Amino acid sequence: MECVPVPRASLDDYAPFVGFDAIKRIRNIGRDLEGARVLHISSTPYGGGVAELLQALVPLMKDIGLDVTWQVMDKDTDFFTITKILHNALQGMGAIWVPEMETKYMESNRLNAKDITGDFDFVVVHDPQPAAIASILDEGSGRKGKWIWRCHLDLSNPMPEAWSFMKSLLDSYDAAIFTTSVYAPSDLDVHIEVFPPSIDPVSPKNLPLGKEVVNTVVSGYGIDLNRPLLVQVSRFDPWKDPLGVIGAFEIVKSEIPTLQLVFLGSMAIDDPEGFHYYRVTAERAKDVPDVFLLTNTQGIGNIAVNAFQLAADVVVQKSIREGFGLVVSEALWKRKAVVAGNVGGIPLQIEDGVSGFLVNSIEECAEKVLFFLNNPEARESMGRAGRERVRERFLTPRNLENYLEMFKRMSSEKSEDV
Ligand code: UDP
Repeated sequence: MECVPVPRASLDDYAPFVGFDAIKRIRNIGRDLEGARVLHISSTPYGGGVAELLQALVPLMKDIGLDVTWQVMDKDTDFFTITKILHNALQGMGAIWVPEMETKYMESNRLNAKDITGDFDFVVVHDPQPAAIASILDEGSGRKGKWIWRCHLDLSNPMPEAWSFMKSLLDSYDAAIFTTSVYAPSDLDVHIEVFPPSIDPVSPKNLPLGKEVVNTVVSGYGIDLNRPLLVQVSRFDPWKDPLGVIGAFEIVKSEIPTLQLVFLGSMAIDDPEGFHYYRVTAERAKDVPDVFLLTNTQGIGNIAVNAFQLAADVVVQKSIREGFGLVVSEALWKRKAVVAGNVGGIPLQIEDGVSGFLVNSIEECAEKVLFFLNNPEARESMGRAGRERVRERFLTPRNLENYLEMFKRMSSEKSEDV
């Protein structure tokens, strides 16, 4: 496994967004944990929500005084093909999950487990890919510290074979974190914590950009700045429903022929399916005018994502299954009118009709997009409400505070145990 280098950050820079009292409160909790050794383990350093979260959280944990390391699993396409199937199966998609896959999964986890050296007070393992490392260490020299599984998925309706495999690996953990309580399977016999993820207001992805920068970036990809623009930012994945977005776009375009649609989709290392689904989406889009598919392979990085979210007249996230959906908070933070699937963590972020619209079908999606395009005042007022909701609930300092409080509770359990 490799260590991911992260830039320095200061919690004080977040005061303009969350207030000085919150910063003081978080630093106070941090003082009790000064020097605690924390290890985060995830599957990839970039692409997708977990990497996005850790890029913000790890530097702030360090700033608070914790001794934090972030390690990512070795690149292995066959393994990531299997873990994508596992991911899908755990979120309830019919899939084939067979013993050979379990064998390959365990082999890769065994290899990665060898790279866990050193002692840690807290180890946070993100998602199913590295989840077996705890039980593998238990078989050997034993694992030290408290182990926490941070699940970013919705496990409320998993495929039984996949869940029984995952559940057997989770017995080794001291706690599991879920985004909402309904995501946690009722038969999981581990202490459960519930708190949602967050977006980083000081990341280049979320900072304000001047109009000139936005226009230069967006027009550089061939978008006409004088015509309305619909944007969806997400990996190319059936559950992000890009084909449904094109369907909704066609309906709206029959009323507003100048409308353009941009998909921004990064290709994550741990999502080999993304390349295939990119081609499926491109095939569906090929005869539909004014649809643009852009990826990180065309130089789309954080600033470009930011620019496109800012340039959009309406942001869509028409997911049909979702963990949390950071992109929704990213768009709301930019005061955007958002139309998004009524699934997963999206209803936590959007209060329907107040800070955006939640939709259940292609037709409903088209109807709400059309409403927003025809009502600039509604775009503005719901965008304002969305920004406030994100400020109160979904910025990194709140997530950091949840982690610190959890660590503190677990440390006191440790001393009671002794
Ligand atoms: N993202 C990106 N570039 C892209 C597409 C997505 O940087 O072309 C980022 C996006 O801004 C967000 C994250 O990847 O921060 C996706 O997180 P989300 O929770 O929405 O979905 P996930 O990929 O974890 O299912």
